[in-house]
Amino acid sequence: MTSEHSTRPVTRAEDLKQVYDVLLAPSFPPSELVPLEWLTEGVASGAVDVLVAEDNEVNQIVFTQILQGTGWRFEIAENGARAVEIWQEKHPALILMDVSMPEMNGLEATAAIRAEEAATGARTPIVGVTAHALKGDRERCIEAGMDDYLSKPISPKALHDKISAWMGDAGAVQRA
Ligand code: MN
Repeated sequence: MTSEHSTRPVTRAEDLKQVYDVLLAPSFPPSELVPLEWLTEGVASGAVDVLVAEDNEVNQIVFTQILQGTGWRFEIAENGARAVEIWQEKHPALILMDVSMPEMNGLEATAAIRAEEAATGARTPIVGVTAHALKGDRERCIEAGMDDYLSKPISPKALHDKISAWMGDAGAVQRA
């Protein structure tokens, strides 16, 4: 599987700009939304609302910076195979799935999850995340069994809106 990074030499500069955009955003993070102990309780119990499958370290920082300011408990998987494992263990309410990842890409990981779900009738919402602004990406995600699609670079508002749409605005606060 070809890494998106090896084919996009400007990615690092774009990634760093995105980190700065997030860190310097005046309205973010809205840390008053949730007491710190709720976040640590979530970690201690192993409960996960949002599983983020993302192999790029800079993007992992971006997701962490954004999600730390919310009430949603989250965990990051560094590749698709690990994402499937965490899904099996922790039953997240929502998965944000990068498309291009080592070991198992986002399309393959989605197919593996959907195959397991076929036996139970359950269905975890999966939102595909891709850096490629190519026409047809959304269709590829949907064909692989994903429910929705979010394009990079990730903005805090776009991420909030997407997670809220699938989980409800209150997230972990009301789900606890
Ligand atoms: Mn990737």
